Amino acid sequence: MREENCIFCKIAAGEIPSKTIYEDEQFRVILDISPAVRGHALIIPKEHYADIYSLPEELAARAIVLAKKLAVHMTEMLKCDGFNIVQNNGEAAGQTVFHFHMHLIPRYQEDGNQDKLCWNHLELSQEELEEICQKLRQ
Ligand code: 5GP
Ligand code: ZN
Repeated sequence: MREENCIFCKIAAGEIPSKTIYEDEQFRVILDISPAVRGHALIIPKEHYADIYSLPEELAARAIVLAKKLAVHMTEMLKCDGFNIVQNNGEAAGQTVFHFHMHLIPRYQEDGNQDKLCWNHLELSQEELEEICQKLRQ
C-alpha cells in the first residue's frame, strides 16, 4: 500500500536515497534532512498510512518496540543525555509530511532546544478537570 507523490513512500522504498540507519521488512529508519540535533532520525513504515488514526494496531506496536530499541542503541552510541520520541498528527499538531513517522531525537544538556518541544500550561479547576475526565473515561 503506497501513495502516489508521497515522499516518504519513495524514501521507504529506496527510490529516493536517504541516510538509512536501520531497515527491516516493515520499516526504514533515516536521518532527518533538517535535524533538531545531530542524530535526529525518523522511523518510517514502508506501507503508507497518513497518521496514527489510520495506522493498524499491529504496526503501531512494532513501531514503539523499534523506537525503544533504537533509543537504547542511539543513546549508547551518541552518548546523549536524554531522548525525545515525538509523533505529530495533523497540521494543528505540526505534521508536515502526511505519511506516519516517529521522530527519534537524542537530547544533550546544552543542545539549544531546551525551550522547544514544550507547551504553555493551562490552569484548570478541579471541576474542569473532572468534566474532561468524565468525557474521556472509557
Ligand atoms: P513532521 O513535521 O511531519 O512531524 O516531520 C517531518 C520531518 O521530515 C521533518 O523533521 C523534516 O525535516 C523531515 N523531512 C521532510 N522531507 C524529508 C526528506 O526528503 N528527507 C529526510 N531525510 N527528511 C525529510
Ligand atoms: Zn507514503
